[in-house]
Amino acid sequence: VGARTGRHLMVVEYAELAAWLGLHRCLLVIVPHSDDETIGCGGLLVHAASAGIECHVVVLTDGAASHPESVAWSRSARVDVRRRECETALKTLGVRQIPVFLDLPDAETLTLPASLCAATATRLAHAIERIRPDIVLTTWRREPHCDHRFAFVIANEALAVSQHKAQLVEYMVWTPITGGSDDQPRADETQYRLLDIEHVRDRKIAALRAHRSQLGQVFKDAPAGFTLTSDLIAEMTARHERYDRGS
Ligand SMILES: [Zn+2]
Repeated sequence: VGARTGRHLMVVEYAELAAWLGLHRCLLVIVPHSDDETIGCGGLLVHAASAGIECHVVVLTDGAASHPESVAWSRSARVDVRRRECETALKTLGVRQIPVFLDLPDAETLTLPASLCAATATRLAHAIERIRPDIVLTTWRREPHCDHRFAFVIANEALAVSQHKAQLVEYMVWTPITGGSDDQPRADETQYRLLDIEHVRDRKIAALRAHRSQLGQVFKDAPAGFTLTSDLIAEMTARHERYDRGS
């Protein structure tokens, strides 16, 4: 098929991806920041939720580092905005489960006290034991953002101590856009599939647009803050979603 259509051989539809991942009933996504759930795996979540899969989401950080210079919006007010945006985005994707927010300090996860790291791994392990997911999704191990690399480490630690064992699957947010060549997966490091999101792209874009504060539409006194531009949204939703699992 690939040769005839010019389509990449690793591009698959949702049903084939779910079978390859062993996804039958339930998944857990560990998300560094509110918005990574949509950018990284929004297409998968639309398909999985509509197939009746329980989609549980844990957001690690409070998201307060995107517009730190805002005066009109206190840190706690900004954290609250980002929580609501994540909830709206997940509803837009069709996810019915309520997300959980751990509120670790945004952009500071690599310098957390060891006791807080251990407590976070334990909380995640308890969530894994309670939810019993088929797979645990987390951000790619060499994502350019420190919190995304932390998510990979803490997800591995949680799975190592959890009584319930699940396949770890990595998804990408920034690696295809701002990652260097060293950040990309090396040959034989992992196995991967590319999910075709063509039929759910509009839903993914709509969910991304629910993150209004990241579009520059909320914290208006902090114009130097992070902004998802139209060009960036187009780039983030044009391609397939890549899913890697350790080989
Ligand atoms: Zn992020």
